[in-house]
Amino acid sequence: MNPNTRVKVTERCAKRLSTGHLWVFDNEIKGIEGSYENGDIVCVIDGRRRFIGKGFINDHSTITIRLITFSDEEVNRNFFKRKIENALSHHLALAWSLDDSFRVVSSEGDFLPGLIVDKYGDILSLQFTTLGMDRLKDQIVDILKEIFSPQAIIERSDIEVRTKEGLKPRKDLLYGSIEGGGILKQDGISFNIDLLEGHKTGFYLDQRENRQVIKPFVAGKKVLDCFSYTGAFALYAAHYNAEKVVAVEDSGKVISLLKENIKLNNFENKIEVIKADAFKWLREIYKKGESFGCVMLDPPSFVKSKGAREGAQRGYKDINLLGLKLLYDGGYLITSSCSQNISVSEFMNILKDASVDAGCLLQIIEIRSQSRDHPIVVSMPETHYLKFIVAKKISRCK
Ligand code: SAH
Repeated sequence: MNPNTRVKVTERCAKRLSTGHLWVFDNEIKGIEGSYENGDIVCVIDGRRRFIGKGFINDHSTITIRLITFSDEEVNRNFFKRKIENALSHHLALAWSLDDSFRVVSSEGDFLPGLIVDKYGDILSLQFTTLGMDRLKDQIVDILKEIFSPQAIIERSDIEVRTKEGLKPRKDLLYGSIEGGGILKQDGISFNIDLLEGHKTGFYLDQRENRQVIKPFVAGKKVLDCFSYTGAFALYAAHYNAEKVVAVEDSGKVISLLKENIKLNNFENKIEVIKADAFKWLREIYKKGESFGCVMLDPPSFVKSKGAREGAQRGYKDINLLGLKLLYDGGYLITSSCSQNISVSEFMNILKDASVDAGCLLQIIEIRSQSRDHPIVVSMPETHYLKFIVAKKISRCK
C-alpha cells in the first residue's frame, strides 16, 4: 500500500471520475508525486490537487488505476469486510437466502474492482482479475471464511484478462473440500456444475432471472435453445412445459454435463441434444423446412475488442436472422448479447435489420439485463453488459 502517493489526472478524467466512473486510463495521467509499486493503493487528485479517490495502480495495464473508494479513508481489512458485507446484505434483502447460489461480489458493479465472488450453496468461487486485488488474496479469503464459514473456497482466476495486468491465469482449491458439492438447485431445477473446469466459475448466474421470464413464451411450444452450454435455458423451458426442446451446443467438453443435467431432471424424453455449430446447423434445418414456436439465442461474446465490433454486429445479425426465419408466425425470439461493447440500442438496431431481412415485423415484449446480483453502475456503462430481449414475430401480411 502506498496511499501517500498522489496521481494527478487530466481534467477530462477528473470530470468522468466525479460522476462515479472508476477507471483512469494510462494517457490520462499528468504526473505522479511519490513512489509506488504496481498493485499499491494510491490517491488520485485533480489538476487543482483536490482529492478524488483512492485506487489500485498498475502501469502494466491501459486501465492504470481502478478506484476503490471516493472517500479519503483507510483501505484495510475492515474496509473490504464492510464492502463485502454490504454487497451480501443487498442480495439477501432483494432476492436470495444465505443457502442460495448467487454472485456475492461483482467487481466494479459492487465497487470492488478486480474481485468476483460467486456462491454455489456452501462453496465460494473467486476470481482475482487485477494485480491489486490479487495481492490481497489471503486477506479476502480470510474475510470470506469469517462471513460465510464455507465448505470450500475455489480460485478460478484462469482467465485471459489477467494477462493485461501482467498476471498468469490460475486455478486452485484454496480452502476446504468440494466433495459432494457442485450440485445447484434453482427454481426447482437441478444442475451439475463443473466448479473447476466450467465456464466463468461454472454457471451463468447472470441469466437466472431472465430464465424465469421465459415461462409464458415456451409453454406448449417446440423450443430451440441455441448456445446451450450445460442446458440451463433448455431445462427451464422443459420445466415450464415446453412440448419439446432442442438444445444446440458445439463444445464436446460441456455436452456431457448438458446430458447429465437432462438425466438429473428426468427430461430425456423432452430435450434433444445436437452437437453442432449453431450457424451451420440453423441454416441446414431451415433448408429442410423445420420451424419452432420459440427460439432462444445466447451466444458467447462476439466482441472481445473494440476493433472486432463490426464482425460482431454481423455475427449477431446473422444468428438472429436465422432464428427469426426458423420461427413460425406469432413465435417468440428470446435473444441475448453479453458483449459489453454493443449497447441496448445497437442490439435493437441489429434486431430491426434482421427482421427486415427476414421479411417480418418484430414486437418487443421484454427488454432486460443481467440478474440483480450483477449490479450496473450508472456512471460506468462498462458494467452493463448483458442484453436480453423477448420479441414476437409478426407476419407482414396480417
Ligand atoms: N445459454 C447458456 C450459456 C451460453 S454460453 C446458459 O444459460 O447457461 C455460450 C455457449 O455457446 C458456450 O457453451 C459455447 O461452447 C457455445 N458456442 C460457442 N460458439 C458456438 C457455435 N458456433 N455453435 C454452437 N455453440 C457454440
